[in-house]
Amino acid sequence: MPEPNMNFRKGAKVWVEDKHLAWVPAEITDCRGKQVQVQIGSGKTVLALPEKLFPRDADEEEEHGGVDDMTKLTYLNEPGVLYNLQRRYALNDIYTYTGSILIAVNPFTKLPHLYNVHMMEQYKGAPFGELSPHVFAVADVSYRAMMNEGRSQSILVSGESGAGKTETTKLIMQYLTFVGGRAAGDDRTVEQQVLESNPLLEAFGNARTVRNDNSSRFGKFVEIQFDANGRISGAAVRTYLLERSRVVQITDPERNYHCFYQLCASGKDAEKYKLGHPSHFHYLNQSKTYDLEGVSNAEEYMKTRRAMDIVGISHEEQEAIFRTLAAILHLGNVEFSPGREHDSSVVKDQKSTFHMQMAADLFRCDVNLLLATLYTRTIQTREGSIVKALDCNAAVASRDALAKTVYARLLVDKINISVGQDPNSHVQIGVLDIYGFECFKHNSFEQFCINFANEKLQQHFNEHVFKMEQDEYKKEEINWSYIEFIDNQDVLDLIEKVTYQTDSFLDKNRDYVVVEHCNLLASSKCPFVAGLFPSPPEESSRSSYKFSSVATRFKQQLQALMETLNSTEPHYIRCVKPNSSNRPQKFENLSILHQLRCGGVLEAVRISLAGYPTRRTYSEFVDRFGLLAPEFMDTSYDEKRLTEKILQKLNLQNFQLGRTKVFLRAGQIGVLDSRRAEV
Ligand code: ATP
Ligand code: MG
Repeated sequence: MPEPNMNFRKGAKVWVEDKHLAWVPAEITDCRGKQVQVQIGSGKTVLALPEKLFPRDADEEEEHGGVDDMTKLTYLNEPGVLYNLQRRYALNDIYTYTGSILIAVNPFTKLPHLYNVHMMEQYKGAPFGELSPHVFAVADVSYRAMMNEGRSQSILVSGESGAGKTETTKLIMQYLTFVGGRAAGDDRTVEQQVLESNPLLEAFGNARTVRNDNSSRFGKFVEIQFDANGRISGAAVRTYLLERSRVVQITDPERNYHCFYQLCASGKDAEKYKLGHPSHFHYLNQSKTYDLEGVSNAEEYMKTRRAMDIVGISHEEQEAIFRTLAAILHLGNVEFSPGREHDSSVVKDQKSTFHMQMAADLFRCDVNLLLATLYTRTIQTREGSIVKALDCNAAVASRDALAKTVYARLLVDKINISVGQDPNSHVQIGVLDIYGFECFKHNSFEQFCINFANEKLQQHFNEHVFKMEQDEYKKEEINWSYIEFIDNQDVLDLIEKVTYQTDSFLDKNRDYVVVEHCNLLASSKCPFVAGLFPSPPEESSRSSYKFSSVATRFKQQLQALMETLNSTEPHYIRCVKPNSSNRPQKFENLSILHQLRCGGVLEAVRISLAGYPTRRTYSEFVDRFGLLAPEFMDTSYDEKRLTEKILQKLNLQNFQLGRTKVFLRAGQIGVLDSRRAEV
């Protein structure tokens, strides 16, 4: 973000780069040479290149605890944005606007006063920007826009793992059920269902990772449907890219999906399925982390059950869901040893045989069929089918593939469509909770898919930011052409590219759906399990594997999502994780700056800088700079004319006079300020 016309003079307040803190406040002490000498807080002086310095408004810092909208900063630059967030965060003001974008910095501590009913009442119908920035304000503006314009809205929540996307999404849903809910005493089933879909999805799709004890391992788009009176009438949940490998493979100190530990702690139900402590099961004991701090697995089990009741999953189906989970755990304990024939395998021992029998019983299918499915593969040839034996490794891979397939179907087919949909609803508010850009050293297949999605979303975001800028100029009747933005190559090169490790791409990209697996489960005597695999896939002539590419399917899903988003009016929330230790009141500059860059917040600032980033109402301008042209102050000029006179007197050309505001190019306010300092 260049600040082209910055005026350097002794005593000027600036920001200077720092290895550890990104930027630190400084003051120019000498600017006669090629490099500028600045003094930083500690009294130390350093030399810096003038183009690496940014102007800083010291008055602003002394006066108050930051501004609630970045566009109100005197100097809209990267260090200014960063320090504004920091000052606000120190006061637990975790929300800040950048125009219409909301930035939310995770407090990592409960702030109940921010989210109670009283707060929701305050934000209800309040003009945007009148109250302190808040997630409720964004939800409210979406709801109002939907009601007034009859147009569907979407709220896109992004940020890295642990930044607070899911919590933010839940607050939005809480607010929407508040404004769009029925009066107490009326039937509130739908609202309850919408809210209870969260704990349910989290039990099946969230897990402990090194970064977040409750990390969502899938993306989700929740559409909340409304009737003509603005009352909630239904909901639909679409899920994306569940991390399937976690079902069969975890590393310490991560965990598998929460629901497994909940089931193991469920007492009677666990006994019924011959489960015990998670340490007895291969899919869980690869990591020695079984419990989460402050969370009781048994209580969570009850909560999940309650959520299922409310959402409307019958007891019979609930039983089938948990029975299927138990079957997966037993299946994981089936081990193989080499068989007598070359490259064949057999079930290893008594223990494995027991688990095999348990898995078959719980899946309600024939144990011999299950066995055959695991250690043989049927290959179709022109001459007929050949049954081929699998060696131990291949049998284990087949076992794990079966577990993953069943689990993924369970989440996608059963858990996420259980909330009632309203076929008559015309408008909806969609809330997207999807993993943000990953800028790791090593980028694997999942990151590739996620980054691909993010590129699309980023494009969408930029177009939106362009449009918002354009609207503001139009409203102020500013003569300005859109071309300037489009020509700005800087702005177009928004997405840095990243190199991916392609070694394991092919494997992961192939989502093995083995015909035998489908046939096996379709043969289940339990209608629920059989229902997960409705039509056995057609047998291909060459192989019994059916490859469906994860990437292809994801691309289609993404396309559908983009189509939905394009037909709605978007709202953006950027979540920021302030530190990597998940602690309150710890603000790590470098990482935050990185997130602001990845999340497009700084890009939005940059887009705004490409136009006329400084906007002041005429009275604000005259108040601040009137002293530069005292000769005009006693005249009968109105404030707009006075502003023009002042700017002309100083020979400034890069400005536009709007209806109510003056618009200045980047750097102009710096020139004005330094003239003001000289007076
Ligand atoms: P992931 O991508 O891993 O799913 P996420 O962005 O969804 O991460 P969350 O699970 O929403 O992150 O948040 C992580 C934790 O941060 C929460 O469990 C909670 O402890 C805390 N947190 C997030 N937002 C808030 C908030 N507004 N108030 C208090 N605590 C919060
Ligand atoms: Mg999440």
